Amino acid sequence: MSCKVVLAQGISVSYREELKNTIKSRNIRPKLVGFLANEDPAAAKYAEWTAKTCAETGVEFELRTCARNDLEDKIIEANQDTGVHGIMVYYPVFGDRQDQYLQNVVDVSKDVEGLHHKYVYNMYHNIRFLDEAKTKKCIIPCTPLGLVKVMEYVGVYNGILPHGNRLHGRVVTIINRSEIVGRPLAALLANDGARVYSVDINGIQEFHRGVGLQLKKHEVTETTLKVEDVLPLSDVVITGVPSPSYKVPSNLIRDGAVCINFSTFKNFDGEEIKKKAAIYVPAVGKVTVAMLERNLNGGTES
Ligand code: NAD
Repeated sequence: MSCKVVLAQGISVSYREELKNTIKSRNIRPKLVGFLANEDPAAAKYAEWTAKTCAETGVEFELRTCARNDLEDKIIEANQDTGVHGIMVYYPVFGDRQDQYLQNVVDVSKDVEGLHHKYVYNMYHNIRFLDEAKTKKCIIPCTPLGLVKVMEYVGVYNGILPHGNRLHGRVVTIINRSEIVGRPLAALLANDGARVYSVDINGIQEFHRGVGLQLKKHEVTETTLKVEDVLPLSDVVITGVPSPSYKVPSNLIRDGAVCINFSTFKNFDGEEIKKKAAIYVPAVGKVTVAMLERNLNGGTES
């Protein structure tokens, strides 16, 4: 078996070092406030990781817990506090459209998660800066951004191509089309030039900028394809199915593919996938947190 297993810890090191140095040189300790207004153990775990990583890189992190009905007022308070540089909320809070409303209550200049409508719109429309002078980068949501960084790290992005086209020719399957991770990720990768098959429980959509990347931003088309059609074509397979029983059929994975799992559950059979994949990334959580801090410090490169 020649599969290389790449751990998120290793990928996040260079970003954490870069952040540490930037923070030191600026002489201002940035403050990130995280709001926890649910009882979700996964959210508590994520908060714990955030606190740990922030302590390592020199970011001041304050976790504020509150009742969900008080959250809006608490966010407004933090928006107005000049001592707070970044705000994040552990979702789901209400688990419906009210969460979307709260994402837009966070001031756009303090949104480190890239969930404000302005950022979401710009991401889908491949608009990379907030201003015409291109000085303020748009914030990209942390998990999709973390997955982009994982793909850069393992060499899926081709550095000799211009920025914005570096996935030209790559075929990627993403098994998850949630609004938080899968759909924005499909858009980002397609905007960077990939042909993306976006799989959810109802079917498969294709995200692509057309032959020769003739379009400025990706288009989405419905397909009648099945997972068994797209997996053998894919250079990269990314999974985020929130179920302990779900396993990607390893026999359908292309020999030498890059396989990345961001679900809390192991969507690949660890032993089987190592017989097929060239690179296997079993989890990405630590890279996500590094991206959160990077967003706090002024945006992203890609
Ligand atoms: P979600 O429930 O909102 O979305 C799940 C997606 O998977 C949906 O698009 C659904 O259609 C699809 N899906 C489910 N079963 C499927 C199947 N059998 N075949 C094909 N598609 C299927 O979940 P989410 O918020 O996107 O989170 C997904 C997982 O990722 C969870 O385990 C979550 O904890 C994890 N997550 C990890 C990070 C990180 O940084 N590591 C960040 C966010 C979420």
